[in-house]
Amino acid sequence: MTGARILDGKATAATVRAEVRERAQGLAGRGRAPGLTVILVGDDPASHVYVRNKDKAAHEAGFTVRTLRLPATASQRDVEALVEAQNGDPAVHGILVQLPLPKGLDAERVIARIDPSKDVDGLTAHNVAALTLGRPGMRPCTPLGCIELLDRHGLALEGREVVVLGRSMLVGKPLAALALERNATVTIAHSRTRDLGAVCARADILVAAVGSPRLVQGAWVKPGAVVLDVGINRLPDGTLAGDVDFEPARERAAWITPVPGGVGPMTIAMLLANTLRSAERAATPSAAVL
Ligand code: NAD
Repeated sequence: MTGARILDGKATAATVRAEVRERAQGLAGRGRAPGLTVILVGDDPASHVYVRNKDKAAHEAGFTVRTLRLPATASQRDVEALVEAQNGDPAVHGILVQLPLPKGLDAERVIARIDPSKDVDGLTAHNVAALTLGRPGMRPCTPLGCIELLDRHGLALEGREVVVLGRSMLVGKPLAALALERNATVTIAHSRTRDLGAVCARADILVAAVGSPRLVQGAWVKPGAVVLDVGINRLPDGTLAGDVDFEPARERAAWITPVPGGVGPMTIAMLLANTLRSAERAATPSAAVL
């Protein structure tokens, strides 16, 4: 067997980012460069890496970027006030609060403060409802990145069996909703699912978003399936692994994402795309009501 083709998120993200940069240049030429604010609270090392990557990518796309840092001792009020100040700034089109927040802070209340039109992570109740209702709105970046990766490789969702492992608000649930919107037949599996292997084996498109290294065994993959591995797990030796046991899964799948270099880069590309669209809407107010 030759093995699956690689769904190269790094290369696809580079294409998306180049497209975003071109459109951002158009806006910047009119003095309306897309503005992204990233709020980072505390000292979580992984969060610092993620924020640095987002900051760099947004700069490269020609955005105006603000990375605002608060200490882990910041109060709920401090964080919410920072969000509100960004809501009121017309030069800011996207606000991202890096999660998780330090213990003692209520992330849900912070997110509720974000103006839905600037909620580039798609996590406010307004945008979650919009997705469920099938209305326009900001969609969460990681699920959107998964769909974009499929689209750009001509891998259709309509009529396919999609199995999503994980039911988080950040990945699993919105991904299931997006797949449903595309007329897939969707199953959400989770920690209480019985016989996970049998459920996975039904999938034409299998998405793993659990956070458990190599949980998905090769034998669970239906021959010819598309496998999207969202998981990012740091192993004791310092290397990264996804939620899928890559090599055996690759033997059976038709397409598979690597970790790193799969879904991760697409997440950042979609953050830029969401911020760009928000900036474009702000630049043409009449479009906001369409
Ligand atoms: P989460 O912890 O919020 O949710 C994990 C989900 O997995 C839960 O719904 C839980 O029910 C399910 N689960 C736990 N154990 C299970 C098991 N044994 N079998 C089946 N389901 C099980 O995590 P999350 O925020 O959704 O992130 C999931 C993974 O994706 C993590 O590794 C995270 O680092 C990664 N992630 C990657 C990106 C990216 O850009 N690539 C973005 C976000 C998250």
